[in-house]
Amino acid sequence: MTTYLFPPPAVPSLPILGRDERFPINRLFFVGRNYHAHAVEMGKPVDKSVERPFYFTKAPQTLTPSGATVAYPPETKNYHFEMELVVAIGAAGFRVKADDAHTVIYGYAAGLDMTRRDLQLVARDKGRPWDLGKDVEQSSVCSAIVPMQGQIVDRGAIALEVNGETKQVSDVDKLIWNVREIIADLSLFYHLVPGDLIYTGTPEGVGAVLPGDRITGRVAGVAEVALTVGSPE
Ligand code: MN
Repeated sequence: MTTYLFPPPAVPSLPILGRDERFPINRLFFVGRNYHAHAVEMGKPVDKSVERPFYFTKAPQTLTPSGATVAYPPETKNYHFEMELVVAIGAAGFRVKADDAHTVIYGYAAGLDMTRRDLQLVARDKGRPWDLGKDVEQSSVCSAIVPMQGQIVDRGAIALEVNGETKQVSDVDKLIWNVREIIADLSLFYHLVPGDLIYTGTPEGVGAVLPGDRITGRVAGVAEVALTVGSPE
């Protein structure tokens, strides 16, 4: 039996709707700029005819369950919400054809890709890594995983409110690269395995939150997600 110098960190996991077992998390992938109107609001329009999708990752330890209250994070004055459809991978896949992408899907969830926008934009504009802007502790908020094995979600309203006021409204059918295309492209670079989550990108309307704010969001036909922003530490 392996012995460790100190107790190993717990495996990050999420509840699964309707099951007692939890969904263990392997990696957290995020698609950048995957709705045209959001790409435009970020000042970086996307031309799908000449561009490929791009990705960043966050540590699995940033995973935070829906309903949590998290402290307003340090070293930012512009902490943003991004409402996203999340794909949960349930089977291994490498160089998956778009037509076969459904075969690696276990289910879906509703997620928030919380972002230190001020630090992300400094990094972007200086050509530095995005980690300080994106790989924020407790920033990968996710609902329970909804088992939808083999199903492709290619439409459905996606929306977010702060303190009940609508901030983001779109539809998953506006994804620049849809779920099939994302799985096909991402699996050219990575051997996808069960436990990987893919946050598929946010629509337009991103904005800042303040301590005390309550974020609610949903993807129609999938799940709802919520987060309360607490005081800074
Ligand atoms: Mn995002």
